[in-house]
Amino acid sequence: MHMMNIFLLLISMLISGWEQEANFSLQTQTELKHAAPEAQLSTPVNTESIPILMYHSISINPSNTLSVHPEVFYKQMEHLKNAGYNTITFKELMNWKTNQELPNKPILITFDDGYLDNFTVAYPYLKKLQMKATIFATSDYIGVSNHFDWNQAMEMEESGLIEMGVHTRHHVDLTKCSPLQLEDEISGAKKIMENRLGHPIISFAYPAGEFNPNVIEVVKRAGFEFAVTTEPGYAEKNQGYLTLHRVRIPGDQSIAAFTRKFP
Ligand SMILES: [Zn+2]
Repeated sequence: MHMMNIFLLLISMLISGWEQEANFSLQTQTELKHAAPEAQLSTPVNTESIPILMYHSISINPSNTLSVHPEVFYKQMEHLKNAGYNTITFKELMNWKTNQELPNKPILITFDDGYLDNFTVAYPYLKKLQMKATIFATSDYIGVSNHFDWNQAMEMEESGLIEMGVHTRHHVDLTKCSPLQLEDEISGAKKIMENRLGHPIISFAYPAGEFNPNVIEVVKRAGFEFAVTTEPGYAEKNQGYLTLHRVRIPGDQSIAAFTRKFP
């Protein structure tokens, strides 16, 4: 081979090497750029932090950012399923508390307030996809106007997909209650729901996310294993099992934004 040819060969090898490196770093940068805003929120392998999604009504109500459109909700659930997330309930989250095994990519879906559309809209979707969720119902509103009734609550629980949690008796601000009222709204609601549903209830959600050390103490004494707040972020053990954070899913969030958040 002529010197010139060897020279050209060397040059072309160098260039292709550079190209590969350049492509690689460009791709990495792009991926990093896409991943950066949500990086701290994704937990594909460890279970140090677990997303607990917070929903309310699943209905067409654009004026209320707490309502998520039924089709959007279905697409979100379908995405979670396709992305390999495993929905668990608080009963299964006991494994987290006791340092036992959890499924890969665990996630909790929660609904606050106990709206009728949780039964008529969300539940059929969850059943279709065989996904689990927890509903924090306000005990004294069960069966009242736009809330599901006891039979519907039992039907959902019997599927094994839905777990009921407590959300007080009257959706009061717990930081403004007298000691007697606190007891009634927390332990009272737990007893009402346990009597009607026939099993212990282990999870609680603070109405409007309002709580203080005294409220937490009453929740603890009532015997709840877990309580969730509206503090934003993934649930982590160092938050305390009675003040776990949640990820609010706003009604105006695009499916693309949701997908990026839960890769
Ligand atoms: Zn509520």
